[in-house]
Order: sequence, then C-alpha cells, then structure tokens
Amino acid sequence: MKVHITADMEGIATISHDEQADYKSQEYPRMREIMTDEVEAAIQGAKDGGADSIIVCDAHDTGRNLLVEKLDPEVEVVQGNPYELGMMNGISKGFDASLQIGYHSMRHTHEGTLGHTYTYNVAQLRFNGTVIGESGLSAAIAGHFRVPLVFVSGDAHAVKQAQMLVSDIVGVPTKTGVGIYAVRSLTPKKACDLIRKGAKKAVERSNEIKPFIVGKPVVMQVELERPLMAQYASKIPMVKRVDIKTVSYKARDVIEAFDVFNVINQLASYAKSEGPL
Ligand SMILES: [Zn+2]
Repeated sequence: MKVHITADMEGIATISHDEQADYKSQEYPRMREIMTDEVEAAIQGAKDGGADSIIVCDAHDTGRNLLVEKLDPEVEVVQGNPYELGMMNGISKGFDASLQIGYHSMRHTHEGTLGHTYTYNVAQLRFNGTVIGESGLSAAIAGHFRVPLVFVSGDAHAVKQAQMLVSDIVGVPTKTGVGIYAVRSLTPKKACDLIRKGAKKAVERSNEIKPFIVGKPVVMQVELERPLMAQYASKIPMVKRVDIKTVSYKARDVIEAFDVFNVINQLASYAKSEGPL
C-alpha cells in the first residue's frame, strides 16, 4: 500500500507564531524536532495500518525542515522547493492514501492558527465556488490523481475545514487558536500518540474514503489582500479581473489552476514590495 505524507509546520503542536517556523529564529531548531516527531508518528501509524511504501514531502517554506536522519529509514523524502505540485510533490496515480501533518486553517479563520493560503497575500481561494485553503488545495491535487485524503492533523479549524470537503477523514486537532498569536495546545508527546493512532485508522480505512475531486474545467477565483496585487495578476494572459481585489481563471484541471495560482502569488509578492495599496 502506497502512502503520501505532506508536512507543513504552522499546524504542528505548540507553534503560536510564524517566527517559530522561520529557519532564522532561535526557536526553530526545537520546532523542527517537534515537526519531525509528528511526521515520524504518522509514518509509524501508516505502517501499522498496512503501508509498505511511503513518500514524505517536506512542505513548509524552504522545504528543508525535517531532520531526515531521524525518520524511518524505509521512507523517501522530498526536500527543497520542487518544480511541480508544490506541497504535494511526489504524489501520482497509484497511491492509496494522502496524509496531511502540521496543516493550518485558511486565511481569516476565527480561532484558527496562523491561517494563510500559501502566502498571507491571498485573502480567499475558490475552486468552482468552493472556498479552499492549503489543505483543500493539497486534497484537490491528490484527487486529481484519484488519491483520497484520509488524514489531517493540525489546528482544530484546519481539521474542520478538511472535514467539510471530505466528511469521513480522520482528523487529529493538535491545538486551537486563543488569540491571533496564541494557542491552547496538546503537548508534543500527546499529539504524536494521537497522530500515530489516527494515521493507522485512516490508512486501514483508505479504500472506503472517496478522493476529493474538483469538476473540470476549474474556475479559480483568487481574492487578494490588496488592489495592486489583483492589478498585476490580471495581466497574466486569460486571467480576468473580477473586482478590485479578485481575479479569475478558467483552468482545464486542478494542476493547471495550481500553476496559475503560483504565478499569481509571485506577482502579489512583487506588488507588496512596491507599496501599501
Ligand atoms: Zn502552510
């Protein structure tokens, strides 16, 4: 049984501020240990549930967070910033299950933790009218390859948002937001115990869970945080300006939508560097 694990950092137990997930910060070495432990717990849980081939995608920021030497020697790990599929690099047809570790809620989620969708420049992302965050986007990429998302761990609202798209997935909430930069969290040890048990159950049930499939074509709407971001994004061929901060693109499938979304994000970052509007 082939399993794909994608690991982000903001949804890992105890993290309450993005500084902790920044490789330049003092706290980062400790946080990457906790992230690595949660991923290892998911690997062991997936193996308990019958997985015999596992690929892990290190999906936060630089993609160089996991302490690979501490992971089960039988897995393969994608690190760095891959050319294709972003946080889901390594997935393809033929996988049986997708697992998300350390995921966070989407931007502007009340009581979420560090909510964003790839960057803080995206206010809201919609595929065919359905609002999705990073978890939904990763689930949609897995669904493109007919692979079901079966497990999510991360902040409580990341789990809820994933369960709104795929109701029967196994979710392990590791913390809940009690302020913009504050969380009430499980201890890392407890989070890892629950992740291992949950991943086992999810992998065992993977053939009962349907992939999250977005219908084709995919009408993608990206609401940005600032007007200049939308103005620049609207110059991409076939991207239309919908209103002052929103652009729209009709893609033939999820993968094309994701590629265009990345270009929009790059332009939004450039627009941000130009000024406050
Ligand atoms: Zn993220």
